[in-house]
Amino acid sequence: MNLAVIGFGNAGGKVVDKLLAFEEDTGRSLWRFALAVNSAEIDLAKLDHVPRDNRILIGQTDQRVKGRGAGADPEVGADIARRDHQEIERAMDGVPIHDIDGFLVVAGLGGGTGSGGAPVIAETLHDRYAEPVYGLGILPSADEGGRAAFNAARSLTSFTEATENLICFDNDTWRQHGDSVEMGYERTNEEIARRVVTLLAAGELDGSQISEAAMDSSDVKRTLATGGVSSIAFASSEVESRTREQRGLINRFTNGHEESGPDENDLTMKIHGLVRKAVTSRLTVPAEIDSAERSLIVVSGPPSEFSQKGLRRAREWLERETDSVEVLAGDDPREGADRLSVAVLLSNVTRVDRIDALQDQAVDAKSNIQQQADTREDEINDLITDDAGELDPI
Ligand code: GDP
Repeated sequence: MNLAVIGFGNAGGKVVDKLLAFEEDTGRSLWRFALAVNSAEIDLAKLDHVPRDNRILIGQTDQRVKGRGAGADPEVGADIARRDHQEIERAMDGVPIHDIDGFLVVAGLGGGTGSGGAPVIAETLHDRYAEPVYGLGILPSADEGGRAAFNAARSLTSFTEATENLICFDNDTWRQHGDSVEMGYERTNEEIARRVVTLLAAGELDGSQISEAAMDSSDVKRTLATGGVSSIAFASSEVESRTREQRGLINRFTNGHEESGPDENDLTMKIHGLVRKAVTSRLTVPAEIDSAERSLIVVSGPPSEFSQKGLRRAREWLERETDSVEVLAGDDPREGADRLSVAVLLSNVTRVDRIDALQDQAVDAKSNIQQQADTREDEINDLITDDAGELDPI
């Protein structure tokens, strides 16, 4: 696919930066336009890959913001995204609209700018363009506390409604003990980029080799057209350079029509095994896979490693696992890639425990926030006046 990508807020910008870096490192060209929007000037300055002219600072005239962020308040994020929409839209005039299949809006949902602003911008894009608008939403980890859960649970509802599909990534699932916060984010952002790029680069029109079972961008679009929330599964394995060369040679001699030799059996098992491994490993957000409405398997790597039989078997296996006939499978040839990678999109999953837990945490936080607000004034009065009320203020 070819997409325009917009990062909203700090996490949104950093993840877009990583998506661009991964695209560059793997010789792809799916991002036809990239924009970072933030209310904190310092965060925009830290980006490496988003072009400088495509970094937009919003909320500068807002007394609550003044270039220093939305203070983890999504109401502020939404307000400034609405008020400064013309500036954002002006920047979007640079999108080569004839050349893209859709938009991807990226944000962390536990803060203010992205949490409040991303659903607003998604809605604006939806109203203005005919192309579908997808979201990539990062859920906060449970130990970030009630406020982050409260922001994320509210944003999740509006972001899902404003997009054709919201791909979720759960920081709680990917948190690792011993990581510093920044190190942890660096690692998780790479994991996000690997999955999202492998999946969405399928069917990109970049002049790369077309294979027999090449995934088409319309297949990806169809799988994403369900509405709701999605999760991505991923697995990869190294390709030994010797086998790669040998297979490339065999393919050249047989014109790619080699059937069930011992090699073909190996490849069938390898592809099938990788798809099973992906789906049974950690997903971007853990979900019960038989609750998915549609799924899509993308196998990416050197074409000499592909096996039509393996792909067919993997698809049949996933149909059984997800209890759905809506499973598409295809490949994305990457001549010279040193890994064989599999990304599986599980679209519109409806049983996601982590989202239920986030909502419970948010409901608790809401009543705490309310209680604290109610008693706060009395407590301040208690503190600044003497118990017997003998002292007069000056
Ligand atoms: P905003 O700038 O106000 O939108 O807030 P941030 O983007 O800084 O933070 C929002 C949420 O995103 C936090 O609650 C974290 O859960 C998450 N977050 C922040 N930075 C990163 C990052 O680099 N990677 C990931 N995976 N999550 C992040």
